[in-house]
Amino acid sequence: MSTVLTLLLLWVVVSAGLLTAMHGRLLRALWREPVLTRPVVIVESDDWGPGPGTDAGILRAIAASLDAIRDRSGRPAVMTLGIVLGVPDGAAILAGKGKVYARRSLAEPEFAPIVAAIRDGCATRVFALQRHGLEHFWPAALLARLADDEALREWLADPSTRSEALPAALQSRWVDSARLPSTPLAPPAIEAAVREEAALFKQVFGELPEVAVPNTFVWDDALERAWAAHGVRCVVTPGCRYEGRDAAGNLGPPTRRIRNGECGVGGLRYVVRNDYFEPIRGHRAERVWQAVATRTAQGRPTLLEMHRESFIAAPGDARAALSELERALRGAVARHPALCFMRTAELACHFGDPASPLLACGLPMRLRVWLRRLQAEPPCARLLKTTGLAWPLRFAGWLLGMRARNGTPAARTGQSSSTPLSGRTDR
Ligand SMILES: [Zn+2]
Repeated sequence: MSTVLTLLLLWVVVSAGLLTAMHGRLLRALWREPVLTRPVVIVESDDWGPGPGTDAGILRAIAASLDAIRDRSGRPAVMTLGIVLGVPDGAAILAGKGKVYARRSLAEPEFAPIVAAIRDGCATRVFALQRHGLEHFWPAALLARLADDEALREWLADPSTRSEALPAALQSRWVDSARLPSTPLAPPAIEAAVREEAALFKQVFGELPEVAVPNTFVWDDALERAWAAHGVRCVVTPGCRYEGRDAAGNLGPPTRRIRNGECGVGGLRYVVRNDYFEPIRGHRAERVWQAVATRTAQGRPTLLEMHRESFIAAPGDARAALSELERALRGAVARHPALCFMRTAELACHFGDPASPLLACGLPMRLRVWLRRLQAEPPCARLLKTTGLAWPLRFAGWLLGMRARNGTPAARTGQSSSTPLSGRTDR
């Protein structure tokens, strides 16, 4: 009997040693990542900016829908709006033979109904502004490509032009895609662009958002430095950073992995968008429910990436998208009564506050969540399966879950789910 026990112990020790030796950094990163005590859902919708008057109508319809969906504290569902402040003035650029860039921005009276709809949604706390570029491209790169690109000239000549129709490489604002592979922008040029964007943001909306979303998730340290100097405190990421486009215009390989709560240059705090919900592409509410269940089990928030694209389609499609979003959020609240809605800036504040009631500090819960995260990482999962260590870890997770369900003092899940979140970050 003692031989069997010794062999079992040896197997566990050797397997755990192998796991640590091969993935030690990952294990530590998963442990350091904050563990949430309640489900959090944020809808993150990008690319809103100048457009036809009908955009104001759909924004008001979205705001009304979100306002009718409440968490149990009575807070409405929140959609962050990644704002692109300007579009090219195609006629002026073409008249000048592409030598000088000209812009139309949300500051112009024509776009006042869109600005009013956004500001009203912010006032009722269903919208939250995020920076998404003065344009969704780097103007000098656009001009440089104009002479050799007939399709680009046609795009500029169309008065109803939308940035969604630009080639993907050009949509990466914070890199020079005039020639591929792309090259980094000069830091002074980045700083000037961020400063100009901040001034226009204040002029149009009377506020300067603390959250930035890099266009197509391509950015670098120089941009973080400029953002930090101009009021940005939080950067939305897809869980990694891209720094350029390759010769074919595709995203280059990620240069680093990013986890919730980690910090970048100037103390910028990262949050991770971890799911995608685009009704116009056929995504349904069930996808959101699955995402919320998975992320909640991993102690993570669910940040759903959406785009204006889903709402600016034909009126019937836009209504269907809104109705699916509403079904998704209502269904998530019904499945997770402790779920809470908040802005991304608030979430980042919680990540930076060790005393936040939204963060778990009890060892059993943190351990259980860590084991789940471990098993969701493909390199770890493969090794756990190969060594057979997955089974005892699952059993350990089950035991820790039983402990939490039985309400032991150390388990904060049930307790915290009814603890109101402090209002100090709710501003
Ligand atoms: Zn975008």
